[in-house]
Amino acid sequence: MTQIIPTVDFEQEGKQIGWLRVPHSVTRSAYGTLPLPIAVIRNGPGAQVMLSAGNHGDEYEGQIVLTRLIQQLQPEQIRGGLIILPALNLPAVLAGTRVSPLDGGNLNRVFPGDAAGGPTWKIADFVENVLLPKVDVIADFHGGGASLDYRPHASTHFGPDSSQEHKQRSLDIVKALGVPHVMVFERRNKVIGLPDAAIRRGVVSIGGEYGGMGRVSRSGVQLVQQAVDRLLAALGVKGELPAGLPEPRILHIYGPAAYAYAPEPGLFDPATDLGDRVGVGDLCGHVLFPENPARDPVPVNFEGEGEVVCKRHPGRVEAGDCVAHLAATLDV
Ligand SMILES: [Zn+2]
Repeated sequence: MTQIIPTVDFEQEGKQIGWLRVPHSVTRSAYGTLPLPIAVIRNGPGAQVMLSAGNHGDEYEGQIVLTRLIQQLQPEQIRGGLIILPALNLPAVLAGTRVSPLDGGNLNRVFPGDAAGGPTWKIADFVENVLLPKVDVIADFHGGGASLDYRPHASTHFGPDSSQEHKQRSLDIVKALGVPHVMVFERRNKVIGLPDAAIRRGVVSIGGEYGGMGRVSRSGVQLVQQAVDRLLAALGVKGELPAGLPEPRILHIYGPAAYAYAPEPGLFDPATDLGDRVGVGDLCGHVLFPENPARDPVPVNFEGEGEVVCKRHPGRVEAGDCVAHLAATLDV
């Protein structure tokens, strides 16, 4: 049973901006709480939607768009209900880090969470057991984080047991967002992310990566803004979808062979750019050893084929760091 106390009433019509008080008892504050921001905006019957960002604290585009949305959106402009969380893992957001500095938790790896665990686990438990049962659709906006550079994409997620109707509805929604590339994830062996929690609850899961490198991408902010506007239009919450939207390209990550890893520590010299098409055995880059220039570089080759959609950002690598991953066209 959750110990998190909301200051908002999820059934109340109108607009409320408040907090989820996450208990965090420490030496300097025995009865302390983490005030995790939440807005609830409701106006009559209609779709029930959760929008979130800051699942990873170093991914900023969604945090910016949802913060503005909370300030600007008025209940009379919508039909239905919105639950908006712009700083979902608040300690990570405040630190600008992927994982929480309080408990080391990566929020998107700890679902279904634990009501008696650390703050990250408590937040996951609240999302899974309190918030997801209240909504039909969740959109969680990511942005690569400090270690990655992404070609922007919107995404949706299915499980092995998702119905055909659920898959089609998810695809129709994600294709309406106006993002040129759409990634479809069939989450067969995973249970630990927010999308997996949504799948368990039969909630349509929309996501996407809109930036990276620990910066704020202006084009990424614009893409997230457009995605939110069109999501609300597609669900009948606010506005109309523009006519004649171009069809996005649908891609998927087909398995472990889509990922390339550094074999040992050094300095990675990439051989590809985002969007490049590569085949099995093509060069991904070299690990070089500036501290020992007589030593030959170690090549890293792709084990799969497809388009380079994600690259590592920092130059230094440790053994096992992902230096790039691929995606391939998916027929749906
Ligand atoms: Zn993320």
